[in-house]
Amino acid sequence: MKRLLFAAAAAVSFLIPSCYQMQMQQIAYNSKVVVLDIGHYYEPVRGGQGARTPDASKGGVIEETEFWYRYAGEVKKTVEAAGYTCLICNRGDVPTNPKLAAAAEKAGVHHVKSPIPTAIYRSTHHPHRIAVGMLSTNYALDQQPGAVVFLHHNSNSATWKVCNKGAFYCNEAGVRLAQTMAQVMTRDILDAPKDGMPNNGVPCGVVLRTDGRRGGGDWLNACNESYVPAVITEVAYLSNPEHARYLNKHENAVRFAQAVGRGIVEYLNKR
Ligand SMILES: [Zn+2]
Repeated sequence: MKRLLFAAAAAVSFLIPSCYQMQMQQIAYNSKVVVLDIGHYYEPVRGGQGARTPDASKGGVIEETEFWYRYAGEVKKTVEAAGYTCLICNRGDVPTNPKLAAAAEKAGVHHVKSPIPTAIYRSTHHPHRIAVGMLSTNYALDQQPGAVVFLHHNSNSATWKVCNKGAFYCNEAGVRLAQTMAQVMTRDILDAPKDGMPNNGVPCGVVLRTDGRRGGGDWLNACNESYVPAVITEVAYLSNPEHARYLNKHENAVRFAQAVGRGIVEYLNKR
């Protein structure tokens, strides 16, 4: 009997989340802070260290870190216009390119200055989580955010190749955030009748990522363990000539960034 009672008590304590967990959930749920992370980092000689277009033939070279230095401020403006606080960070140091440095200053980018931006670091919040770029996630979780969005573009080929499987990668806590952002992206950008990005009729996807060994997996896992919705933006393929041609027009890049912001706002407004 005693053993049975003990087993029952253990089962109940397992099922009911602890006070601490509930508190963390409430903090994330009530938070009006959004953190954006500009993916990868800027290297003084080689420039942005993310994915890039195969060449300049579609209106110019696009590299994802440099792209988001230019346009993360548009995401932030959209989020702040809706009454939320938006902070932007990057794992590296201030870009040595003066135009990008000016854009970073204007957008208020916080540079985490990882001593070695390509090295693996440990999560201070959940020390069993390790990843390249984790110092950005540490900064993000220090802000007690309601959402964290890692700004990237994708690429799946060293040569031009049409690919339409863009998606938001998310943690469990971020499934609704990713679904809302994907809906907005499909509604306002992908194949949108006016000024849309061609995508062969394929809607924006949502991919739940729980494998810490895969790109960005443990950023998402560390956020998940703080009950913070987190997504990685991988909607555009820089190896897709139609996407590159679209994003090379300044007005379109602004449209794209604003749609990322609107997706975040629509999610926060209906939490
Ligand atoms: Zn990336």
